[in-house]
Amino acid sequence: MITINENYRKLHASYLFSDIAKRVADFQEQNHSGETLIKLGIGDVTLPLPAACIRAFQDGVNEMAQEESFHGYGPENGYLFLRERIAEFDFSEQGVTVSPDEIFISDGAKCDTGNIQEIFSGDVRVAVPDPVYPVYVDTNVMAGRTGSFQDGRYQNLLYLESTEENGFIPLPAPDLKADLIYLCFPNNPTGAVASKDQLKAWVDYARQNKALIIFDAAYEAFIRNPEVPHSIYEIEGAREVAIESRSFSKKAGFTGTRCAYLVIPRECRAFDAAGAEVSVRELWTRRHSTKFNGVSYPVQRAAAGIYTPEGKRQTRELVDYYLENARMIAEGMKSAGYTVYGGENSPYLWIKTPRPSWETFSLILNKAAVVTTPGAGFGLSGENYIRISAFNNRDCVRQAIDRIVSRVSLD
Ligand SMILES: *Cc1c(COP(=O)(O)O)cnc(C)c1O
Repeated sequence: MITINENYRKLHASYLFSDIAKRVADFQEQNHSGETLIKLGIGDVTLPLPAACIRAFQDGVNEMAQEESFHGYGPENGYLFLRERIAEFDFSEQGVTVSPDEIFISDGAKCDTGNIQEIFSGDVRVAVPDPVYPVYVDTNVMAGRTGSFQDGRYQNLLYLESTEENGFIPLPAPDLKADLIYLCFPNNPTGAVASKDQLKAWVDYARQNKALIIFDAAYEAFIRNPEVPHSIYEIEGAREVAIESRSFSKKAGFTGTRCAYLVIPRECRAFDAAGAEVSVRELWTRRHSTKFNGVSYPVQRAAAGIYTPEGKRQTRELVDYYLENARMIAEGMKSAGYTVYGGENSPYLWIKTPRPSWETFSLILNKAAVVTTPGAGFGLSGENYIRISAFNNRDCVRQAIDRIVSRVSLD
């Protein structure tokens, strides 16, 4: 008899995006005004790939057309030409030491942050932020590290509350007993950024408690404040206790092209049942080379295009475009009386609302024909917030804000 992994039954179907879709469909049916719907909901980019990436992508495809330059299976951890550029421009140039053989190219940060847990024991205690990017939670539920879902939370999962009081940056409480800790800065959904001191508190915690941090830096390219750390490896001692995830999705419009990477330093350690140190990098090398056959050659060429002088300028312009959208949204929402967080080193605005998230979501949908995301969908601590995404074209953003400001009153 073929039986199923019962842990999948524990998954609380996240109705978030399907609920949103249903409410949007209902609205569209009754919307006779002819006004177009503007989507500032899900976090997908809208601008095309930078020209430098397109050129490199096309060159890569052309090479595949000739026997002399054709590429078959590549290295599972990615081509050296890409790993060398990453090590130089994303790290060395920023004063951080990461070597090319500590970098693993993949087809996405979703897969990386979702898959990494399988190299750790089934009984490690897991801590996740609340509100949270759901991948960290659901992959640990599937692996059986949690109990059932009750009153909005999984049993046996530790929730790190990100609230207005702590500036949406949870710090390790003295009684916290976690082995695997997920952190994401700049944060999705709150847009919060952590300072060096705040990251240091986590690195120190991990060192003292033999824990490990998964640091999701998918939005690193949006950091403009020079005080804000770009990498967890800017913190002393982090190489032993942290894995960093980066992605080209938001930085260079690769959501549909697929390329990302994990950094696992040589010193990064976990422990075996007898308490002896084990190299996390070696474990991941074993896992990655068994279950993954590498990212396509033209895609890795396209990603390397980001690190050319034109590519650097073009990706910066692309990110600046979304940051300007974010600035406009923040200004508009503040003028309408809302309390606005995020949006400065991040494409997301986290907006406090006087009503439950879903009510605010419906109000904005029905009065302004604008789609946002209810904060409660990201966790209990997201209640009374909505997330507005800056990923859209300038005219749509301008129009959306005009409509909200003129039609949706706060009380
Ligand atoms: C968008 C996003 C990613 C990127 O995922 P990809 O699979 O690389 O497209 C990772 N983490 C967070 C928090 C995100 O919002």
